[in-house]
Amino acid sequence: MAELKAIEEKLREEKNTLVEMARAIYKNPEPGGKEFFAADLITGYLEEKGFKVWRGIGGLKTAFMASYGNEGFHIGYCSEYDALPEIGHGCGHNLIGIAGVAAGVALAASLNDMPGQVSIIGTPNEEDEGAKVYLVKAGVFDHVDAAMMFHPGCSNCYHVESLACRDYRFVFKGHSVHASTEPWEGRNALDGVIQTFNSINALRQHLKDDVRIHGIISEGGLAPNVIPDRAAADFIIRARDSYYLQEVVEKVVACARGAEAATGTTLEVTESGHPYDAMISNKTMADIFAESLRETGYNLESPHGTGLDSMDMGNVSRVTPSIHPMVAITNQWIPGHTHEFSTLCNSDEAYHIMLNVGQAMAITGHKILKDRELQKTILKEFSESIKSSF
Ligand SMILES: [Zn+2]
Ligand SMILES: [Zn+2]
Repeated sequence: MAELKAIEEKLREEKNTLVEMARAIYKNPEPGGKEFFAADLITGYLEEKGFKVWRGIGGLKTAFMASYGNEGFHIGYCSEYDALPEIGHGCGHNLIGIAGVAAGVALAASLNDMPGQVSIIGTPNEEDEGAKVYLVKAGVFDHVDAAMMFHPGCSNCYHVESLACRDYRFVFKGHSVHASTEPWEGRNALDGVIQTFNSINALRQHLKDDVRIHGIISEGGLAPNVIPDRAAADFIIRARDSYYLQEVVEKVVACARGAEAATGTTLEVTESGHPYDAMISNKTMADIFAESLRETGYNLESPHGTGLDSMDMGNVSRVTPSIHPMVAITNQWIPGHTHEFSTLCNSDEAYHIMLNVGQAMAITGHKILKDRELQKTILKEFSESIKSSF
């Protein structure tokens, strides 16, 4: 098909520049919200390629939207480009960022007079605050009809699901005294935290299998001979279903309130971070992506993965049909967020896969834009899956 040839040729033409951009982002790792180098590099390139660019969308300095094309069905590719403190690109967002750019530029080259629009949406700060949550709230995805991105990993999975997620901080305040001379005068904030952990551990037996609760003691006193007057714990609470998650959150908060009463301390509860929704993967789109990736010579053998995380793409998937396939860049088990995984994200093999994925996302976009029936099927599946998730 001539249009698919146009996608392939465009990527052959742009290959070196795209890989150079991904390498440059790798070599200049920037933390979430401060990805000025990456955002400038990508938006500058997209402007050169004829895209209309809006910077700072949703009130986020390093977010952007770059669009090309005509009225009609609107395909959006999400680009991430934030790095981890100390580790750099240990989550491979240099690959995610440029795969989205590659897909957008290649799909734009195949549009000709076909109705349809393609956008690359720069979604920063995924690791820390999840900028997509803000961008969804700001309405950035309201006019996007189908959204896509990929994530590199060490296994393949294209019907990716994720858990809804909430972050909580519990701060206990007590009364400090000498721990040996007059302990009876003290109220121990650390005991409040420890009792919270114990009660949550007792609660686990009565929760559904998909619930995950994990926490740390982030403040636990200053010296063993002083009764701590302040202690804090941070928890992440996850479940498949946002409504059930709310029930679990209330039970976890009740555990902390019980600890407050038992220890005579006072408790401050804050929701830190932003709630992530569970990902609803659009199966129609995911199957087309897997088929398109096969056409580029890379086989995604397994539709379902093991282990569930949470992601801000989950919030996008509630307002527009979305996919977030995981594609292996190694056949060894090397966990993300490590120096070892970071090294892999700068390998020739990883850049090769990034371009294959970019091509597959462009082909997926093209197949959707040229087929109105397929567009209807995707939108129907989306509205049914949203209805059944409430
Ligand atoms: Zn990560
Ligand atoms: Zn990531």
